[in-house]
Amino acid sequence: MNDNSKSDVLIAGLGAAAYSAALYSKRYQIKTTLVGEEFGGETAIGGLIENYPGQPDIDGFDLMMKFKQQVDKLQTETINSNLKSVKKNINGKFNCILDDGTKYEVISVILAMGRERRKLDLENEEEWTGMGVSYCSTCDAPLYKNKEAVAVVGGGNAAVEGAILLSKYAKKVYLIYRGKSFFRPEPILLNILNKTENIVILLETEISSLLGDINGLNGIQINKSFDGDHEIFLDGIFVEIGADPRLEIPNQLQLQINKETGEVQVDKHQNTSQPGIYAAGDLTDGTDLKQTITAASQGAIAALSAYQNVLSHKSRA
Ligand SMILES: Cc1cc2nc3c(=O)[nH]c(=O)nc-3n(C[C@H](O)[C@H](O)[C@H](O)COP(=O)(O)OP(=O)(O)OC[C@H]3O[C@@H](n4cnc5c(N)ncnc54)[C@H](O)[C@@H]3O)c2cc1C
Repeated sequence: MNDNSKSDVLIAGLGAAAYSAALYSKRYQIKTTLVGEEFGGETAIGGLIENYPGQPDIDGFDLMMKFKQQVDKLQTETINSNLKSVKKNINGKFNCILDDGTKYEVISVILAMGRERRKLDLENEEEWTGMGVSYCSTCDAPLYKNKEAVAVVGGGNAAVEGAILLSKYAKKVYLIYRGKSFFRPEPILLNILNKTENIVILLETEISSLLGDINGLNGIQINKSFDGDHEIFLDGIFVEIGADPRLEIPNQLQLQINKETGEVQVDKHQNTSQPGIYAAGDLTDGTDLKQTITAASQGAIAALSAYQNVLSHKSRA
């Protein structure tokens, strides 16, 4: 176990934003430490990725392996443990402690810990993720081209948008929400929704179980408040009930949080409200388009800001 090792920048996460930040940081030739327990982030579990430029139709896991190989080639120090705490010290640096007890003192920190998708908490949900269960309609809708039926669960804009998008691919789309009406929908979306003939809206409806076999999901059982239980055959289900940014460390550092989205507030340089702390990817309010390409792009920008902070800190020392 290291005791207060020194590094210039510590990057928390092993997803697209973090690996991209590490790549740029190493190329600036500053001492870079990448920390995280779970390889690849959401991209690695996202199944087929069809929209990452230059890598058509690549499995998400394979794409992240390419990110990793590029970073490993630069001999980047990688510690297989999550970041547990960060605290500013009297030298204006940051003391970081990892879950395994490893300690670092660094000049810049890049937070790229992503978000925790909200789940339905139903049996087989995890097992069938990527096998009929998806948490991202923007990403996976084209995989359902000409399929008979899919469902979107949720009552917010993401769910309504997802249903509209999926209606262009699948023959029939069920939009299922447990509430009596959609949650603060944009009027334009509701207009399109109501005009789209292949979307069936099921309000006041709960999903009681996922149905399927070793090949994955093939249906659901629903419970309508006035009409009892029903089974629906489906090729896929999209769970669009939100995602929670991982805010434990941002809250320790009392970073400014975007009140509307609950995400870490950043500017165009990926600066957070605390000098020396940068954030990138799905954790932040940097863009509404939460994708691998935007996370990677923000990681690169965060690395430049972190590097400039290291230079300025060293020039003052
Ligand atoms: C099912 C699904 C399919 C998708 N398909 C596509 C697609 O086709 N195309 C596309 O562009 N995008 C797709 N996305 C979106 C894309 O995966 C995300 O936008 C992208 O992964 C965000 O990258 P990130 O690095 O910000 O966060 P993440 O990928 O979530 O990575 C966060 C990382 O931080 C780690 N971490 C968490 N806590 C800590 C801690 N305390 N210390 C250190 N590390 C920590 C996590 O384990 C993880 O490795 C999909 C998402 C899902 C869920």
